[in-house]
Amino acid sequence: MKHLFGEYGIESKIVPVTDTRVNLVAEIGSGNPVIGISGHMDVVSPGDESEWASDPFKLTERDGKLYGRGTNDMKAGLVNLALVLIELKENNELKNGTVRFMATTGEEVGGAGSKKLYEEGYMDDVDFLWVAEPSHDTIIYSHKGSLNLRVTSIGEAAHSSMPDQGYNAINPLMKYLLEIDEKLNGDNRKNNVLDKLVMSTTIFQAGNQVNSIPEKATAEINVRTIPEFDNDEVIDLFNTTANRYNKGGSSIQVEVTMSLPSVFTSGKSEMVELTKELGKKHLGLDISVKGSPGVTDASNLLRDKDENFPFMMFGPGETKMAHKTDEYVYKEYYLAFFDIYKELILGLTK
Ligand SMILES: [Zn+2]
Repeated sequence: MKHLFGEYGIESKIVPVTDTRVNLVAEIGSGNPVIGISGHMDVVSPGDESEWASDPFKLTERDGKLYGRGTNDMKAGLVNLALVLIELKENNELKNGTVRFMATTGEEVGGAGSKKLYEEGYMDDVDFLWVAEPSHDTIIYSHKGSLNLRVTSIGEAAHSSMPDQGYNAINPLMKYLLEIDEKLNGDNRKNNVLDKLVMSTTIFQAGNQVNSIPEKATAEINVRTIPEFDNDEVIDLFNTTANRYNKGGSSIQVEVTMSLPSVFTSGKSEMVELTKELGKKHLGLDISVKGSPGVTDASNLLRDKDENFPFMMFGPGETKMAHKTDEYVYKEYYLAFFDIYKELILGLTK
């Protein structure tokens, strides 16, 4: 993609994230406003490839649909952003302002790429941001945060005929998890747009033999947070609860393995209004404006922006199609989004 931008005289920069993963940032224009457009390059695993009707890594068109892993989440959006950048440059159509294209790595596994862009200041001067994740006929202007924790309970092995000789690692961890579950899922705080926080224990591992007292038990938990009950408060609750158990003789350790804050914006902006009009014009659909439980790179990119910042997630494809076998995007909608994005940029930089 860097090569392609180069052919059209667009300056771009590789931003390394790990030894093997990079982001790509490209820019056209100069001055204000600065429009940030972003999408992730990674895709999830295809799962069992034999379940697919065609090769998941070969774009295949059938009945007006483009099939392949990542077509919907989110190559259709990302490719459109890149093509719009090229067209604006080639036709010299951008009269004012800057368009900053930010392609990220690692979105599906914790957002390392977007975190790097935030830390390196690529968002500092940005006035509008949209992420081209699949949302079809809906503009998402707020979403929940996502927090992963690993909780390990250490006990002492013994023969199960003499459990007193050891310490069962499972028992305190079960109690701990049920207590946390009640506190989090039972909490009454509610966001007008995002509703309540939700928490699920999703992995539990312990023991290896039915007649041995387990010396270690590990659980992993995912929490979907809201601004009223945020990641820091949840982490604090996990830690203070563990401390209390540990004072009572248990040995429970808490580790945060991923922490993406929620994104809460008002949804009231020139950008959202114009997008609704353009959506109606090019998709022929009434565009709704909503909050979402899923996270995007915006969790990292908007870390220091307030609720007045114009943000949206809006892109070709349907949210429900993401990560599925036989993933597809409708070709017609994919093509329509090119016009929407282009006219949106021109509308915001008039
Ligand atoms: Zn995605």
